[in-house]
Amino acid sequence: MFGHKKSPASRAPERDKLGIYIHIPFCRSKCDYCDFYSLAGREDRMDDYQKALLAHLAETAPLAKGIPVDTVYFGGGTPSFYGDKRLRELLAAIEKLFELEKGAEITLEANPDSVDFKALKRLRKAGFNRLSLGMQSACPAELEAVHRPHSPRQTDEAVEAAKKAKFKNLSLDLIYGLPGQTMEEWKASVEHALSLIPQHLSCYGLKVEEGTPLQKRVEAGEVLPDDDQQADMYLWTVGRLERAGYPQYEISNFAKPGFASRHNLRYWQLKPYIGFGPGAHSDFGGRRYSWVRDLDGYIDGVLKGGTILDSEELIPQRERGYEYLMLRLRTVEGVEEWEYRSAYFMDFAPLEARLEEFKAQGWAEKTEEGRWRLTPRGFLISNQLIGDLLERQERAGFQDLLPRAREQFSRPRDQGPAS
Ligand code: SF4
Repeated sequence: MFGHKKSPASRAPERDKLGIYIHIPFCRSKCDYCDFYSLAGREDRMDDYQKALLAHLAETAPLAKGIPVDTVYFGGGTPSFYGDKRLRELLAAIEKLFELEKGAEITLEANPDSVDFKALKRLRKAGFNRLSLGMQSACPAELEAVHRPHSPRQTDEAVEAAKKAKFKNLSLDLIYGLPGQTMEEWKASVEHALSLIPQHLSCYGLKVEEGTPLQKRVEAGEVLPDDDQQADMYLWTVGRLERAGYPQYEISNFAKPGFASRHNLRYWQLKPYIGFGPGAHSDFGGRRYSWVRDLDGYIDGVLKGGTILDSEELIPQRERGYEYLMLRLRTVEGVEEWEYRSAYFMDFAPLEARLEEFKAQGWAEKTEEGRWRLTPRGFLISNQLIGDLLERQERAGFQDLLPRAREQFSRPRDQGPAS
C-alpha cells in the first residue's frame, strides 16, 4: 500500500471510487467506556430498522449511479448482533442497487459473543470477506471491568470459527489502558492476539468519554493507567507488532502487507463515502453531512418522509487542505509538498519549517521519497502537533498565494511550463 511513489508528472487522474458505510446501532449491552451511537435493549425495532435501511439505500442509489463501489463497511454498534439474515439481505440490496466492484472489500464488525460458525459461513458465502472482531483484551478481569459482553475464550472460538468459514482477512481490536491493566497484562493480550494470527490489528488507547459510565467511575475516584503508562504501552506495541510482521500504517492500525483496511484508509485519504443509519456521516458530492443520532427518528424519517438530516456543509477547498493535513498525518503515508500544493493551492514552506523542528525533537521524519510523516513518538502527541501545523498555515496568510498557486497548478501539463 505504501512505499511506492510515482513522480507528479506520471500521475494519471484517478476517478474516485465510493465507499458505503452501514451503521448498525444495536448492542447486547453497553460497555462502560462507549460513546458510539448504539443502544441495548432495542431489538424490538430491528425489523423496522431493516425496512428503513433498505428504503434509504434504494432512494440514495440513483445519486451514485455509475460510480464504482470498492468498499462496504458494516459498523456499529454490533453488526453481528443484528443477525446474519438481515446483514445478508442488506448486502444483496447493495449489490443490486449500487455498482459494487468485483473484489470489493466488505467488512463486518463482530463481537465474539454474537458469531458462530454457521452464521459466519453464510455471511462469507454472501460476500463478506473481512471480519473485524472486538477482542479488546485476553484478560477476563479486564473485560469484566468495563462490562464487555464476552470472555477471552469466546474470542478464541470466534477466530477459529472465522477461519473455518474461510475468512482470510481477519482483524482484532485491542484496548490498552483498561482499568487495572499493567504493562505485563497488556503485553500478554498482544501476544495472545498474535498467536491467533490475524491479518490486521487495531490497538486503541482507552479514553474517558463524556457522559459514559466510565467517566462517572473516574469522577468517583477510580484511577486508570495514566498517560505515561499508556504511552509506554503504545510505544512497546508499535515495536512489537513491527517485529511480528505487522507494520504500523495509521496511529492505531497495524497490518500484514496488503491487509490495511481499504475502507478506513478512504477516510484518511479524503475519498468519498456514503453512510446509512443514525449518526452515520457521509462525504459525497463535495458535501459532508450526517444523519440524526436517534434510532426512532431515523426510522420514522425514512419510512414516513420526515427529515433525518442532522448536519450538512459544503467543504471549501481551503478546508480540504486542512483535512488533508489532519487526516494524512494520522497515517505513515504522511504528507508531501507537491500533493498539497497542487490539490489545495497552499504554500508548503511554513509547514516544512515547522516539520523540520518536529524532526529535531524526534516527532517527525522525512522519507527518502520526500514525504513527511510523524514518528510513533509523534503519533502519541499527534493532536498537538497537527494543531500546531494548522495554526502555522493559518498565520502564514496563504490566501495571498492563492492566485499564483492556482495559475501554477491548474495549467494543463501538456501546455508546457508556466512562464
Ligand atoms: S459493543 Fe462496541 S458499540 Fe456496543 S457498547 Fe460495547 S464498545 Fe459500544
